[in-house]
Amino acid sequence: MTAREVLDIVEAWTRVYAMHLSPTSPMRTKGARGENHGPSFQDVGPLDMTSLRYMQVFDNNGEIVGCSNAHPHGQIWITSSMPDGPALELAQMSKYRKGHCGRHLLTDYARLEMDRRERVVWQNDAFLAVCPWWAVWPYDILLLPKRQVRGLVDLTETERFQFAEAILQVTRIYDNLFEMTFPYISALHQAPLNATQEELDSSHLHMHFSPPLLLPAIKKFFGGYELYAEPTREITPEVAASNLRRAGNQLSDVSSNGKAAEVSSQGGLVLEGSQESISCRRDGSSWWRRLTGISRRLRVAA
Ligand SMILES: [Zn+2]
Repeated sequence: MTAREVLDIVEAWTRVYAMHLSPTSPMRTKGARGENHGPSFQDVGPLDMTSLRYMQVFDNNGEIVGCSNAHPHGQIWITSSMPDGPALELAQMSKYRKGHCGRHLLTDYARLEMDRRERVVWQNDAFLAVCPWWAVWPYDILLLPKRQVRGLVDLTETERFQFAEAILQVTRIYDNLFEMTFPYISALHQAPLNATQEELDSSHLHMHFSPPLLLPAIKKFFGGYELYAEPTREITPEVAASNLRRAGNQLSDVSSNGKAAEVSSQGGLVLEGSQESISCRRDGSSWWRRLTGISRRLRVAA
């Protein structure tokens, strides 16, 4: 796909979101900067729009994450109640804003990651892709705008394209990492459809990517400790980001040469620290021996 084609998807999400906003929502006008964000709002029939609480955009990509339809597709579920995940995030963002003179948690977090750079995977002018320090899956990515954006309708026309470009780049980097169509679950979080003013002020659009693979033939499983104590990680977010940046650099090289995708079978992925590299062969048992051989030294993420 091209960024233009991904933009069609972003604009479809935006239209659906706009159509289902509460009639009293301040966002039910135009984009935050006064720009038109696509087709005008449409009559969606007899729905009581005030009863709609949350719109969840998500994508299950690949059989390993439960996708039953082979063709590319995403899903949108709209509910009359607030799902637990975004509700918890929103509560924490509100708490942070109140405790930090109105600053936003994810805006501050984006600034921190851009300063440190070690967990940054990719960025353009408007969006930042990072392996967050709280990541649970081996190659978790959080994609977030650098300024506070409450919901899709706040994005300018330029930012919508930059969002599409970022989504495309993240998925291409994933595919390049293990030279395979990389399975993942992605989900978009933004302001509730009938948000209170406090919720609007605290919301910050962002997108989660949660891929289950640790290695080409090894899926991460949640064992007893992870299910009943706390999540653990086989690789640190810093190492994951380094591996993903390397895959992204290979993409850039390929692009600049105008050649077909070509990645060395010696992928040079790092499983611990910045010094130790291992070759990337699609051999699960070999990978597993290599992994378990060094797993004693892998640290548990904070
Ligand atoms: Zn979220």
